[in-house]
Amino acid sequence: MKNIERLHNIFLQSTGICTDTRKLKEGNLFIALKGDNFDGNKYVDFAIKNNAIHAVTDNDKSKDTNHITIVKDGLKTLQDLACYHRKFLNIPIVAITGSNGKTTTKELIREVLNQKYRTTSTIGNLNNHIGVPLTLLSMNNKTEIGIVEMGANHQGEIKMLCQIAKPDYGYITNFGKAHLEGFGGIEGVIKGKSELYNYLIENNKRIFINYDDELQINKTKQADVISFSEGNDATYQITFLKASPYIQIATKDININSQLIGTYNAKNIASAICIGLYFKVNPKSIKKAIEKYQPNNNRSQIINKNTNQIILDAYNANPTSMQAALENIKTIEASNKTVILGDMFEVGSTSKEEHQNIVNLLEKLSFKNMYICGNHFYECSTNTVKKFKEFSQLSEYIDQHKIENNTILIKGSRGMALERILDHL
Ligand code: ATP
Ligand code: MG
Repeated sequence: MKNIERLHNIFLQSTGICTDTRKLKEGNLFIALKGDNFDGNKYVDFAIKNNAIHAVTDNDKSKDTNHITIVKDGLKTLQDLACYHRKFLNIPIVAITGSNGKTTTKELIREVLNQKYRTTSTIGNLNNHIGVPLTLLSMNNKTEIGIVEMGANHQGEIKMLCQIAKPDYGYITNFGKAHLEGFGGIEGVIKGKSELYNYLIENNKRIFINYDDELQINKTKQADVISFSEGNDATYQITFLKASPYIQIATKDININSQLIGTYNAKNIASAICIGLYFKVNPKSIKKAIEKYQPNNNRSQIINKNTNQIILDAYNANPTSMQAALENIKTIEASNKTVILGDMFEVGSTSKEEHQNIVNLLEKLSFKNMYICGNHFYECSTNTVKKFKEFSQLSEYIDQHKIENNTILIKGSRGMALERILDHL
């Protein structure tokens, strides 16, 4: 029997895959992975002693071959195992990629499909070359639909993830200015994300698409599409009603009042409605699922603190989502508004220009208080926006100039951890 077949049999008897012994559960199949700063191969004996059913390692000195399989490359074995497992999953799999909004969209779709089907989706943000195989391996013969979030920061990555997940459907949230460094500019982003479209087209699979997004229509001319749009030229007409600040959206005979803010979330919700309608989830159940959903992890959350209303969007940032967030707060009805922005990372060679663009937009939109923080923003030229190099300088300033009765937007890259400013508001 081939190694992978044997490992798959062991996997089916196991209680799941484990790649981190700190999270080991009895009966897990442990697969040792190696990274720049860690080596899972050191924990193989520990895993077996602590009741892993079996372990996979690249350490050829391991002796207990009943419980240990020696391979060349643990990561490749994990991916091969997922690929092999996919053959037994006779279910539709929907892949989600894009520059912004993947996790939010994936979660909305999962909530909607869960109304009718046993749905398994990517846990949290496990969307890379390790997370995608783990997601596949979390699906079993009870799963009726799978949803796989695919993230990428360079060319070829989505293609590779498609080879593992073999999606039947795909949706790209947007082509935006994220991970510009690794992709090589916006053209590179479009090319890299379109690998999902290429896979689906080559394999006669189907694409869900936002027909109001010109860039995407151009990329799917040859494709079999299921579309949604504000107009009546698409498979499903889904209309954005308003954001005040929560998004309200309508389709057919249902009006949905979501708990999501940010006009950019309207298309994330619309895609979940479209996919739900396509898979014949009852519109009333779609409404229920979306109205119940609340974002987490500092993603576009509203927090009322003291006299302020805070839009906490400190989960991540890039030029596209930053612009979307600024345009969104501009539309909110409030007399006093404050914007606190932190640096955007991984922007690459255009970083200086992109930070300056945001500052220019900020000056143009003009809010009562405008604060920017971080090494990149500090380099920008501005007369009206207050700059801080360090977070401690920003927080000190805010301690001395209390903000009251304001609607406050907080947004920056994950590394800036701008949610820390909450303690000062
Ligand atoms: P990651 O690259 O970390 O996986 P993601 O693509 O999964 O990110 P989310 O975690 O869903 O994205 O959302 C992150 C932030 O992106 C949100 O808080 C919001 O600011 C912004 N965002 C969400 N959807 C969109 C969209 N459709 N267009 C632009 N910005 C968006
Ligand atoms: Mg994500």
